Amino acid sequence: VPGLYLVATPIGNLEDITLRALRTLRSVDRIACEDTRQTQKLLNHFEIAKPTISLHEHNERERTTELIEDIRSGKSIAVVSDAGTPAISDPGHILTRAVLEAGLSIYPIPGANAAITALIASGLNSTTFRFLGFLPEKTGARRSYLESLAAESTSAHEDEKSAPATLIFYEAPHRILETLSDLESVWGADLRIVVARELTKLHEEFLRGSVSEIRTELAARDRIRGEITLLVEPAPRQSGSGEQPASLVERLAALQSGGL
Ligand code: SAM
Repeated sequence: VPGLYLVATPIGNLEDITLRALRTLRSVDRIACEDTRQTQKLLNHFEIAKPTISLHEHNERERTTELIEDIRSGKSIAVVSDAGTPAISDPGHILTRAVLEAGLSIYPIPGANAAITALIASGLNSTTFRFLGFLPEKTGARRSYLESLAAESTSAHEDEKSAPATLIFYEAPHRILETLSDLESVWGADLRIVVARELTKLHEEFLRGSVSEIRTELAARDRIRGEITLLVEPAPRQSGSGEQPASLVERLAALQSGGL
């Protein structure tokens, strides 16, 4: 069927490709890839022979015109990124918008995504969360962004209507220590965080605890490698109250049912 197929691919473990993703990649006319060499490895692994073209942040706008013409003429196009779900901190969104504006069809083929994978195993509030992608790279911009988030989450927390949303970020291994020290200076040493590293891969690791504990733990390593998703529970712990997130959720449920 002609249209644009947004196909999720694994974030590490190749077994995370879905049957539908494989069938789609085998049946489309062309595959638009963030990096054709990267995707070629995946296609070789699954013995899929298909023409690929590049679609990355520097050519997404130009490519869009060409791909829309393809779809108009009855072709089906898959979009894949290097890993995970297209259009999530990855190319695909500009093309998606343009395809919709042209009145053509979009078919999402869901699969792996680092943010959701990290969230479900984090133990942090997974009912409400905010995915915020990559933080600003420059120290000043990152600090002021984190300060604005802290201000928002504190005021949102004051009304006690809801547990604060978990914040989810993507972060580069060479910047994680700097970011953790920024988090600590903005929110305090007791801020609960989770560092999810190398999800679905051989050296998958979760570090759960206060920002100061985890920063110390990571700083003691020779080198921090691999891909990192960072989760933050923005409620500043009241010292001495020792309240766990679960009890907050229970209290909320009790409040809603008029039990408190
Ligand atoms: N579109 C992808 C998705 O759906 O997750 C994300 C692409 S973004 C350019 C890449 C970032 O996602 C990495 O820098 C890292 O922060 C995070 N990430 C990707 N794979 C990961 C993994 N296996 N473990 C932890 N974080 C990962």
